[in-house]
Amino acid sequence: MRKFFTVALAAPFALAALGLVACASEEERANYRIVAEYFPERSMLSACMEARIPNKTENPLSALSFELYPNAYREGAKYAPVPEAYAPAAYYSGMSYGGVRILSVEGAADFSVGGEDENILSVSLGEALFPGERAELAIRFEVSLAAVDHRLGVGERTVNLTGFYPALCAYGESGFREYVYAQYGDPFVAECADFTLSLTVPEGYGAAYGGTGSAATRDGKTVYEISAPDSREIAVVLGTFSRVRTEANGTEIEYCYLDDETPERTLEIAAESLAYFSETFGAYGHPRYTVVETDFPYGGMEFPMLSMISASLSAEELPAVVVHETAHQWWYSAVGSDQFEHAWQDEGLAEYSCALFFEAFPAYGVSYEKFVGESERAYRAFYSVSLQLFGADARMDKPLTEFTGAYEYRCVAYDKGVVLFDKVRMLTGKKKFLAALSRYCAENRGRIASPEDLIGCFSRTEASAEGLFASFTEGKCVL
Ligand SMILES: [Zn+2]
Repeated sequence: MRKFFTVALAAPFALAALGLVACASEEERANYRIVAEYFPERSMLSACMEARIPNKTENPLSALSFELYPNAYREGAKYAPVPEAYAPAAYYSGMSYGGVRILSVEGAADFSVGGEDENILSVSLGEALFPGERAELAIRFEVSLAAVDHRLGVGERTVNLTGFYPALCAYGESGFREYVYAQYGDPFVAECADFTLSLTVPEGYGAAYGGTGSAATRDGKTVYEISAPDSREIAVVLGTFSRVRTEANGTEIEYCYLDDETPERTLEIAAESLAYFSETFGAYGHPRYTVVETDFPYGGMEFPMLSMISASLSAEELPAVVVHETAHQWWYSAVGSDQFEHAWQDEGLAEYSCALFFEAFPAYGVSYEKFVGESERAYRAFYSVSLQLFGADARMDKPLTEFTGAYEYRCVAYDKGVVLFDKVRMLTGKKKFLAALSRYCAENRGRIASPEDLIGCFSRTEASAEGLFASFTEGKCVL
C-alpha cells in the first residue's frame, strides 16, 4: 500500500521570484537545493527541491523533463528495478512498493507525470526559455519508500536515498533523453550540477553521503546539511555505521561500515585505488570520498564522491568491487557518458581499470594477465551458450533494454569491455594507452562524452584503433 502525507517544510530561500530569469552565464551549472525530511514510521520522504536551471542548449525550451526514478519501484511498473532472480533477496520481507507523488511545481505554467512508465515529470514553462536564460522552479514531492535492499528504499539495516528527487534529463541531439529504468545497468544520465541537501531524520540515524557536510541535533531530530558541488547527483545512505578514515593525495577518505570484520583493509583498498587512479587518469577533484557498506543485492553502486558496496560481499569479492566502484569516480562521475545507450563506455572502462590497478599492486595476488584472461573466458562461455540459444548478438553498443538479461549484460558490457581495452593497449603500447586515457579524462571532465570522444583519444595515437573499437562494439570480431 502506498501512503502519502504532507508536511510543511520551511522554504530555504524566498520563492517570490520564481519563473524565468535572464542571463545565466554560459558556464553556469544548474543548482538544486533540496530540503527533505525522512519519516521512518511511514517509510516516507517529504521534500521540496528548488531548481535553478540554465538553458545551455542551442534551442529555446518550452518544457523541461525530469526523471522520476522512484516510480520504477511502484506496483505495476513496466521497468522494475530488481531482476526476478534477485527479488527474493532484495525484497527481504516480501514484495513492497514505492513511488513519488509530485505535489506542486512553482514557477511553471503546468506539469504532468507521464513517459513510457510514469517515469517522466514534464514541466511546461509557459513561455520559451531561450539559450542563456534560466528557469527557477520549486518542486514539492513525496517519496514512498519500498522495503527493499536497493538503490532507493528502506533496507534491512540501511535506508538508501539515491535518485529520490526529480532529476533533470540530460539534453541530447533530439531533445531531452528520457530513459526508462533498467533491471541491469545504470540508466542514469545527468549533467553536472551544484547540489545542496538539508535532510532531517530522527535522532540516531547516522549518514554516509557523497560530498561534504555537517550535522546538528535538536529536539530529537538530526539535520544533515550536505553539499555536493559539480556533481551528477546527490546520494545519502542512512544507518548506524562504524567509521574509519584515512587520507590519500589530499583527499579525506571515509569508510562507513556495518559488520565488515576487516574495515582497515577495505579502507586501504579505497585509498590505494583512489590514489592510483588520481595519478594515472587525472586528479580526483573533490575533498572527500566515502565508501559505505549497505544493503544492496549485488556488488556495488557508484555515486559522485560515494560508493555503495554490498554488505553481502565475501572477502574475496570485496577488493575488485571497491576498485571498480572507485574507478567510476572517473568513468561516470568526472567523465560522464550515456550509460543507457553505451553502457560499455563506462562499465568496460571501470572494469578494465581494475586490471590496471591489480597490475600495479601485485600484493593483491591478481595479475593483469589473470584478470584479463578471466574476463575473456567469461565472455567466451557466454558467447558459446548464447550462440546456441538465441543466435549471436555480440554487439556491445546497444541500449540497456536490448540486453536479454543480467548475464548477457555482465559478459558484454564488462568482460568484453576488458578484452577490448586490452586489445587496444596491445595496439598502442601501455604508455600511449595510459596517455590516451588521461587525455580522455582531461578533455571530457564535467561533460557527457560520446563513444567517439573516447575512441578519438586512442585513434589520434594509433589510427587503426577506430576499426578495432568498431569490430567490438558492432559485434563483428570473433573472440
Ligand atoms: Zn560499474
